[in-house]
Amino acid sequence: MKDLRERLAAKGVHTLIAQFTDIHGVARGKYLPLAHLDDLLTEGAGFSGPSIDGTGLPRCGPRSEYWARGAASTATALPWLPGYARVVCDGFVAGEPFDACPRQVLRRQVARLAAKGWHLRTGIEPEFFLLKRVDGRWLPADDLDRLGKPSYDLKSLPRQRAYLQGLQQALEACGLDVLQIDHEDAHGQYEVNFGFDDVLASADHLMLFKQAGHALAEAQGMVFSMMPKPFADQPGSGMHMHVSLWSGAVHDSRGNSRNLFVPHRADGSVDHAVQLSPLGRQFAAGVLSHSPALCALAAPTVNGYKRLKASGSISGSHWAPACITHGPNNRTALLRTLHGRFEWRLPDSSANPYLVSAAMVAAGLDGIERQLELPAAADDDLAVLDAAQLHARGIALLPQFLDVALDALADDAVICSALGETLLAQFLALKRAEHGAHARHVSDWELTRYAAMF
Ligand code: GLU
Ligand code: MG
Repeated sequence: MKDLRERLAAKGVHTLIAQFTDIHGVARGKYLPLAHLDDLLTEGAGFSGPSIDGTGLPRCGPRSEYWARGAASTATALPWLPGYARVVCDGFVAGEPFDACPRQVLRRQVARLAAKGWHLRTGIEPEFFLLKRVDGRWLPADDLDRLGKPSYDLKSLPRQRAYLQGLQQALEACGLDVLQIDHEDAHGQYEVNFGFDDVLASADHLMLFKQAGHALAEAQGMVFSMMPKPFADQPGSGMHMHVSLWSGAVHDSRGNSRNLFVPHRADGSVDHAVQLSPLGRQFAAGVLSHSPALCALAAPTVNGYKRLKASGSISGSHWAPACITHGPNNRTALLRTLHGRFEWRLPDSSANPYLVSAAMVAAGLDGIERQLELPAAADDDLAVLDAAQLHARGIALLPQFLDVALDALADDAVICSALGETLLAQFLALKRAEHGAHARHVSDWELTRYAAMF
């Protein structure tokens, strides 16, 4: 601890940010002087439990206190906040790991993997918008960003280079390997990819990315938005995850880890004719089979279901999955299989990275335990098929509304058990209230359509 304190001090750090993540996937925390690093790493920083959405903790008594205990390895000086270092925290209550802390929820699944001698790696691909608010209207921050097919637009991208370059440098200074930055398929929409890592580290990185994204956008008078679908006529934001299962401990220093999703022939050579090993197929089959319940965590807002609808967009495609199936390099399927990994396209940008990863691991492990087999691969464009054609091929659609996904979650014993009783109850209550509030809202669309109609 002394070493860590000295290393941070040498970088000019005077203050620690004890940061945890709430049920919504929102970063929360408080500041502590560097001198109190030991307290943060041993006992933790105390918070009023009921002030944090999703804890379900009482207003008084020993269980009213939520302790955020720092993980030393995560301490990182933040370049956009000179003098401050972020320390990722796990929730504790009454001296025990708090079952409803999202990071603890993921840790439980990581422990299940470790008990089998495995760890899981994810590469998270966040898409996001840069917006501004003009006369109460939300617009892309860049007025000139107007192409009919905005994907990979190299005229808009340089107009945001000050922001994107700042973001790249900030993430790199925090140890992330930034791989690619591009303009996505909607006006004002971008994607930043960084290197894959152990599932827990990736979720931590995603939270770091969001904090950097917000801070740097605000400094330039823009709003960084991880809202899944800000514009009805344009694609929404996904948060796809590339998933692979590895043998051995996380960050095996002897380099003995093997990707267990890579298929092999009987003679031990790598099989390039298929995408996934039998274990990979079982894991993927588990993830597919739990899709309706996973949807509640992967698309946890009423807005997210507008992304998942198989509807048109100005660019001619929305690229969001609606069909519960898989296919080799098929971006129109929920699972796009690649050699030795699959891309899980379900999560949207509002998903809590810890909860959605934990639920995905539980679904995959269930697939392995039950030795599930994948349905036939789809290698055609599913976006052109109508409901009758999909039905004839036995391809189900994802829940099309939040309440349907919540019901599926409540009915799915595997995912419920992964979340734990407290978190599940809190999630269902908060999200049912959100669905109810949305359902009761009378929108401009309704007034325009119905006010003078009848
Ligand atoms: N924006 C799309 C989504 O909501 C994904 C686009 C892509 O394939 O990168 O999932
Ligand atoms: Mg993308």
